[in-house]
Amino acid sequence: MRPRTKRIRAAPRARNGAASPYRFELETEPENWFLEDEGYELAVFHSHPTPSNRPSRTDIKNVGLWAGRPYLILSLETNGLAAWQITGGGEPVELPLS
Ligand SMILES: [Zn+2]
Repeated sequence: MRPRTKRIRAAPRARNGAASPYRFELETEPENWFLEDEGYELAVFHSHPTPSNRPSRTDIKNVGLWAGRPYLILSLETNGLAAWQITGGGEPVELPLS
């Protein structure tokens, strides 16, 4: 069995519905959710202005409908990229990047 290769095919922008530099509510166009029906896996990419590329408490608290999907976080201070899975309640699990 061949390993599945994941590639980014589209990167539609999302909005911060909270309109705040400190808090966010991720909002995206409804049609992006239907990409899953076409076989795409949805993921969230965002950056942190700090050295941390771990999910913040806000990321965990506001995961909502994105729970279980990959969260790619880039630290703008270190350029370190990491992927996480945030599920309800538990600690985020780091996903391998290849
Ligand atoms: Zn974050």
